[in-house]
Amino acid sequence: MSPPFAFPVRRRRLVASAAAGLLLLRPEGGFTHVRAGVQEPLPAGLFTLGVASGDPLPDGVVLWTRLAPDPLRGGGMPDRPVQVEWEVAEDDGFRQVRRRGVAIADPALGHSVHVDVRGLRAGAYYHYRFRAGAEISPAGRTRTAPDVHAQPERLRFAFASCQDYQAGQYTAYRHLVDEELDFVAFLGDYIYEGAPNPNAFRRHDGVGEPYTLADYRNRHARYKSDPDLRAAHAAYPWIVTLDDHEIDNNWADEVPRDPALQTPEAFRARRVAAFQAYYEHMPLRRSALPQGLDMQVYRRLRFGDLASVHVLDTRQYRSDQPGSLEAAQDPARTMTGPHQEEWLVHGLGTSGTRWNLLANQVMWAQNDRRAGPEAVFSFDNWDGYRVQRRRLLDYFGSGRVQNPVVLTGDRHCTWVCDLRTDFDDPASPVVGAELTGTSITSGGNPDIAGFHATYDPIMADSPHWKYIDNRRGYVVCDVTAERLLSHLRVVDSVWTDDAAIHTAAEFVTEAGRPGVQVASQEARPLARSTPYAGPIYDVHDDQDAFPLRA
Ligand code: FE
Ligand code: CA
Repeated sequence: MSPPFAFPVRRRRLVASAAAGLLLLRPEGGFTHVRAGVQEPLPAGLFTLGVASGDPLPDGVVLWTRLAPDPLRGGGMPDRPVQVEWEVAEDDGFRQVRRRGVAIADPALGHSVHVDVRGLRAGAYYHYRFRAGAEISPAGRTRTAPDVHAQPERLRFAFASCQDYQAGQYTAYRHLVDEELDFVAFLGDYIYEGAPNPNAFRRHDGVGEPYTLADYRNRHARYKSDPDLRAAHAAYPWIVTLDDHEIDNNWADEVPRDPALQTPEAFRARRVAAFQAYYEHMPLRRSALPQGLDMQVYRRLRFGDLASVHVLDTRQYRSDQPGSLEAAQDPARTMTGPHQEEWLVHGLGTSGTRWNLLANQVMWAQNDRRAGPEAVFSFDNWDGYRVQRRRLLDYFGSGRVQNPVVLTGDRHCTWVCDLRTDFDDPASPVVGAELTGTSITSGGNPDIAGFHATYDPIMADSPHWKYIDNRRGYVVCDVTAERLLSHLRVVDSVWTDDAAIHTAAEFVTEAGRPGVQVASQEARPLARSTPYAGPIYDVHDDQDAFPLRA
């Protein structure tokens, strides 16, 4: 049994200050007054959305929760700030508490709490929990990063992306909890903005797409209503970045998917609402609190001298997608904006770590979608931003960047690739590796035969593609000074409750040798015995209308 949740010192201090009322600094500036005296008791069920931790540093992590007794209908909290106590302990019984304090859940931020805990030991496991009113949250477990100067022997993490709620169950996350990771990197499409689809495996709420802050809050809450997702957050610190569906399909800076239907003013308001709801639901530091139209997402984390994680934001500052290959070659086009590019180049060159991992959204490797001499590209990917891509790949190959490996989401398939300075020239140097993970659910259960019938012939024309696969899951990476070994973990189905997980293939990148090799792979599942006669298979990486029941 764990001891009672007790905060002797802080409790007294709070009671004393509550008697006089509290003046609290509001996140958007100005002060709010917490009234003294007796208040209505809080509704029951405050911790329906679970707990999370994120962005591990050598001396701390961010702890997150949001009070939401009625999560799918606005949250259900009274319109006043509420004190939330938190504690961090060495043990899951909370006997050896190392840090504790009180945070304020403010209605202006949806009664979310982001605690930037410091003063912890490096490379250490901790347990944490919250209390509000009479309720104690579920406990989470987290881990700090190694000391900046430490020489960790290994790092083990997973990356995941694209968890369309409508497309299937989060069974992959149930298995992720058992992987014994140092952290999880989430590469975007945490929610999807799609309207409820009556044919989907399970359905979004309401009608239409989210536009307002209230809409986006409810959508995030729907996603966190999934117990497997909550368990995955409670098990590890997450390093999150976003892609398009957190706001609007294929948005670019201030341009929505459908400029004819959303005025610039309306889309800016939508982006502000989506960013705020995103911040409210993620274990992000205060530095990511949206300011006006902007949110600071790109950032860097370090794991001793072994690895740096450069977290990218390829939506907020990008040029609008080009309409042609000629336009894709315009040197003025940017995926990152000039400031982020400068930040990335500087960080890659000075990180001092053996590995440089890019937590990235859309594919860097050229990705033709048509067999034969004709090429069809998605210009939402780096294929649409070719001059900047070439500039960065030349830099990868300049000798100034130690072991760059790009980790990618978005594609809803696995695509393991060598990165070359010129993908059309097989003689051009290999300068890095890209591991494009699959999706947690997006795309639903795979059409394996259709996928391979379409893409195997293109693979024959794309020598930088080393492995492709179309099953749902995530990728676990084991990193040492010598090599990065990655394991593609896939579930058999996202439409059953009890799907097992297994390793479909493993890939190795050796330090000092750019590129990636297939280390092992199982026999291809469901091999075709008769020629495939179905439709050309398209991988739905930019919409969520597709997934249907089996
Ligand atoms: Fe996606
Ligand atoms: Ca996407």
